[in-house]
Amino acid sequence: MHMEYSQISVIGAGPGGVATSIQLKRLGYEPRLFEMDNMGGLLWNANLIENYPGFPNGISGPKLIYLLEKHLRKLDIRITKLQIKRLEYMNAQYIMSSDAEIFISDFVVIASGTKPKPIPFALSEKVRRKVHQDIKGILEQIEKHIIIIGCGDAAFDYALNLSKRNRVTILNRGSELKSLQLLADRAFSNNMITYMCDTDVQNIDLLPSNRGDINDSLLVQCTNSENIRFALECDEIVLAIGRDPQLDFVDPLMSKDSCLLVGDVKNGIYRQASIAAGDGIKAAMKIHNQILMRR
Ligand SMILES: Cc1cc2nc3c(=O)[nH]c(=O)nc-3n(C[C@H](O)[C@H](O)[C@H](O)COP(=O)(O)OP(=O)(O)OC[C@H]3O[C@@H](n4cnc5c(N)ncnc54)[C@H](O)[C@@H]3O)c2cc1C
Repeated sequence: MHMEYSQISVIGAGPGGVATSIQLKRLGYEPRLFEMDNMGGLLWNANLIENYPGFPNGISGPKLIYLLEKHLRKLDIRITKLQIKRLEYMNAQYIMSSDAEIFISDFVVIASGTKPKPIPFALSEKVRRKVHQDIKGILEQIEKHIIIIGCGDAAFDYALNLSKRNRVTILNRGSELKSLQLLADRAFSNNMITYMCDTDVQNIDLLPSNRGDINDSLLVQCTNSENIRFALECDEIVLAIGRDPQLDFVDPLMSKDSCLLVGDVKNGIYRQASIAAGDGIKAAMKIHNQILMRR
C-alpha cells in the first residue's frame, strides 16, 4: 500500500475545512486537504446565504463555493480527492486510510460535517432512487412536483430553491414550525409552494398506472391530525428531517479530544457556514501554537 506523510491533514473541504487550510497556509504550513466529493460540502444546497459577513445581498451556496475554490487556488492549496475510510491514532500519529493509500500526520482536523438521519421508511430500490436527503442531485429538475418532508430551515430553504422551476409541497407532521420565520414567510407567499401541517407520512410507493403497470411517479400515503388517510402524488421526495455528525470513519477507540473538530461535525444545532469558517481559523491557530510549544 502506498504511504505518505504530511505534518497536518484536514478531512473535508466544506467551509470549515477550507478556512482551516487557508489559515494554516497563512501560518506557513502545507496542509493536506481531503475531500471525497466536490468541495463545498452542504453549501451546494444553500439557496441564499444572508448571514455570511461581507455579502449584504446574500450569496447562493454554489457562488460562495466558487469563491472558496478561487481562494484555495490563489494560495495554491490543492485538494486530495479521496474518502478517508478510517482514522486512527497510534504512537502519537494519525493514520488515515483510504481504499489504496495510507496517510500519516502529526495533526488532524476533522471537518467532515454531517450525514442525514436514517430514512424512517422501508423503501424499495426503485422508490429509494427518488427519495433524496439533500437537493444537490435534483437542482436541474423542471416542472416536477416535489414533496419535502420536514419543517426546519433546510426544508424551507430547499423549497424556495426548488420552487424556481418546480411545484413544491412541504409536509410537516406537527403544527409547530422549526424554521426561521423569514424563510417560512417567503415560502407562504410563494404560489409554487404549498405547506401542509399535521401531515404524517406513513408510506411511500410507486404510483400504479391506470393500466396496472408501474409508472415513475410516487404515491405518498399520509394521515392528518384526525387520523384520516389520504394520498399525494409527486415526482421526487426530499427528506429534511435532520442530520447527525459524520464521524463514521473515526476509530471508536480514538479520543476525539486528541484531534480538532471543526464546523457542523461538532456544532449541534449551531450549524452555520460562518461558524464553521471561524472554527477552522481557530483550529489552525491552535495547531500553530502547539507546534511552537513543542519546539
Ligand atoms: C439547505 C441549507 C441551507 C443553508 N443555509 C445556510 C445559511 O443561509 N447560512 C449559513 O451560515 N449556513 C447555511 N447552511 C449550513 C452550512 O451549509 C453548513 O453549516 C456548512 O456547510 C458546514 O460546513 P462544514 O465544513 O462544517 O461541513 P460541510 O459543509 O458538511 O462539509 C463537510 C465536507 O466533508 C466531506 N467529507 C466528509 N467525510 C469525509 C471523509 N471521510 N473523507 C473525505 N471527505 C469527507 C464532505 O464530502 C463535505 O464536503 C445551510 C445548509 C443547508 C443544508
